[in-house]
Amino acid sequence: MSPPGRPKGEYRSAQHEGNPMSHDPNCIFCKISAGQIASRKVYEDDELIAFHDIAPWAPVHFLIIPKEHVATMYDTGEEHAPMMGRMMALAPRLARDLGVVSGFRIVVNTGPDGRQEVQHVHMHVMGGPRPWLKG
Ligand code: 5GP
Ligand code: ZN
Repeated sequence: MSPPGRPKGEYRSAQHEGNPMSHDPNCIFCKISAGQIASRKVYEDDELIAFHDIAPWAPVHFLIIPKEHVATMYDTGEEHAPMMGRMMALAPRLARDLGVVSGFRIVVNTGPDGRQEVQHVHMHVMGGPRPWLKG
C-alpha cells in the first residue's frame, strides 16, 4: 500500500503550493486570522485560531482553523498532519473550557459535495444541550 499523499481525485482547489504560511487576501478566514474581520475569539496560538461561528447550530459552536491558508482537506498532505492533529487535540480542551461536558460533534466539510462554503480548512466543534438547530 502506498503512503498517504495528495489525492488523485477530480476536485482540486486553487491552493498555492510550496508556501509554508500562505495567506489569501480574498479569504474571509484569512482576514479573521489577521484581525481584519472581527470575531469572538476562543483561542489563538502561533498556528491556530478558534472563534465562535457567526451562525451557530448548537448552543456552543466554534471553528478551529489554521492560520495558514489551506483551502480544503484535499490540499493537506503529510506535512499538515501535525497541524491537523493539534486541531483535533484542541477541540475537547476548548469545548470543556466553554462548558461542553456532555459530548460534542466535530465536522470538517470538504469540497462542493461536502457543502464547504468557506474555502479555508476549518473544523466545526458543536456541543451543548439538545435540541440543536441542525446536526
Ligand atoms: P462550511 O459550510 O464552509 O463548513 O462552514 C463555514 C462556517 O463559517 C459557517 O458555519 C458560517 O456560519 C461560518 N462563517 C462564515 N462567515 C463567518 C464570519 O465572518 N465569522 C464567523 N465567526 N463565522 C463565519
Ligand atoms: Zn484563508
